[in-house]
Amino acid sequence: MAKQYDYLLLGGGTSCGYAAAAIRDRDKNGSIGIVSADNQPPYDRPPLSKGFLKNPDLSLSDIHSKDESFYPDNGIELHLGVRCEALDRSAKSARLSDGSEVSYGKLLYALGSTPRRLDYPGSQNAVVLRTGADGESLRAKAPAAKSVVIVGAGYIGSEVSATLRAVDVEVTLLELGDSVMPGLPSKPTRAAVRDELERLGVHVQEGDTVVEADSTLVTCRSGRVISADLVLHAVGVKPNVELGSSAGLEVGNWGIRADSTLKTPDPSIWVAGDIAEYAEPITGRDYHAEHHLHAKWTGEHVGACMAGDAREYRKVPYFFSDVGRLSIILRGWPELADRSFVLGNLEEPAFSEVFVKNDGRVIGFVDVREDYKAQDPICDLFERLIGEGADLSSRLRDLENPSFDVLSLA
Ligand SMILES: Cc1cc2nc3c(=O)[nH]c(=O)nc-3n(C[C@H](O)[C@H](O)[C@H](O)COP(=O)(O)OP(=O)(O)OC[C@H]3O[C@@H](n4cnc5c(N)ncnc54)[C@H](O)[C@@H]3O)c2cc1C
Repeated sequence: MAKQYDYLLLGGGTSCGYAAAAIRDRDKNGSIGIVSADNQPPYDRPPLSKGFLKNPDLSLSDIHSKDESFYPDNGIELHLGVRCEALDRSAKSARLSDGSEVSYGKLLYALGSTPRRLDYPGSQNAVVLRTGADGESLRAKAPAAKSVVIVGAGYIGSEVSATLRAVDVEVTLLELGDSVMPGLPSKPTRAAVRDELERLGVHVQEGDTVVEADSTLVTCRSGRVISADLVLHAVGVKPNVELGSSAGLEVGNWGIRADSTLKTPDPSIWVAGDIAEYAEPITGRDYHAEHHLHAKWTGEHVGACMAGDAREYRKVPYFFSDVGRLSIILRGWPELADRSFVLGNLEEPAFSEVFVKNDGRVIGFVDVREDYKAQDPICDLFERLIGEGADLSSRLRDLENPSFDVLSLA
């Protein structure tokens, strides 16, 4: 007979761990099952490109989202190392790779995303970094490598470059675009990251990529040949929509579509984390994000909704990245801004960038500095201002002064 859960959480990544806790806070008795292709209980991925990568004393259990006892203590059943192979929405059931069927009352579809891979002669030997197992493998291989080529200077490629330099690995970072962190809509931040990578001794090369590799040499599109025995692809991710799409869930420009509460048109199915493409209520646009706190917060939100506490998901996005000594925090939607103001010291660097619309409304914020503790009050302030759609028209003169103290906007 098929196993039956009141709440079935598919994916078992970051968002599922937080969703399970939020459900249990509100529903003490409902049965909860988590199905994950990963063989670990839910964990937080950010350390994989930072502390975990340079510290062999850390184990995967150190980055678990919840203590191992949390699941048995709360009657949450884990099905690990098992893939969901098909969803039948009319029967409200999922077919798993171990041959079993699981039926559900309510379903969270949180299958996250998969790293993209490049295709060139020799590309099959390149590694990616997504799972705990990837992290363990990279941590074991990189120090033994004479030199590593990282393809893609987004935040993961940039972070890994900086982290590997901290353990004395020779790193070349290739970026096809014209700057590191090309997706970050803040020119001074991109420049600060590049300076930091250079300071750490990373060989950064923009406008270039790999066209061929063997076990010792990497050939670039520019014709340059680099001696390297390990190649990491860090060229973005694609959302795992296939299962949902085959089951008739609507796929938008990115992921599985949902309303502003993160519920899909199927009244029994919610989405969270990387996969969710939802009607964002503050901007009135469809939105998705591949960020840790987005996965955590949407997981918590959806858990509450599934347990009967339905409401709109109204959160100002929060993305963070650490590159060497730099702590980078982004709030809101700077990509929607018409203009921006840079305040502080670009040389140090310790600066903020405030993003506003033509009508003076603040829409985004970026902060870059070494002193990460100083960032909390500034970022909290901008969370409030962006969430309220604060009109800064009367403060634009102040914002033009680079030494203006942003905290005085409180
Ligand atoms: C190395 C690294 C560093 C990062 N650093 C940062 C950072 O500094 N700041 C930041 O904001 N974000 C960071 N992120 C991004 C953040 O970790 C992700 O956005 C977040 O993990 C997404 O959570 P999720 O629950 O949507 O998906 P995931 O955590 O990816 O979980 C999805 C789960 O679904 C499982 N799955 C997939 N298909 C199936 C199937 N068919 N059946 C069963 N299970 C399946 C997968 O195995 C996986 O366990 C980082 C990511 C990585 C990889």
